[in-house]
Amino acid sequence: MSHKITNKCTACGTCVPECPVECISEGDIYVINADACIDCGACVNVCPVEAIVAE
Ligand code: SF4
Ligand code: SF4
Repeated sequence: MSHKITNKCTACGTCVPECPVECISEGDIYVINADACIDCGACVNVCPVEAIVAE
């Protein structure tokens, strides 16, 4: 289990500083490193387009 960023991501960057383990990286869409994600959910509520989902 980890959280995942879907292709709804607009690359706004809002989620990056919310992650306590710094596992979100920039890109055309942003990407969560599934091996590092501790599933805390902190990034989910700050995303303006609800692009972050638990999987
Ligand atoms: S769920 Fe938590 S640890 Fe995982 S990417 Fe989001 S903020 Fe980071
Ligand atoms: S907050 Fe949402 S839209 Fe913005 S970079 Fe993160 S996942 Fe993408």
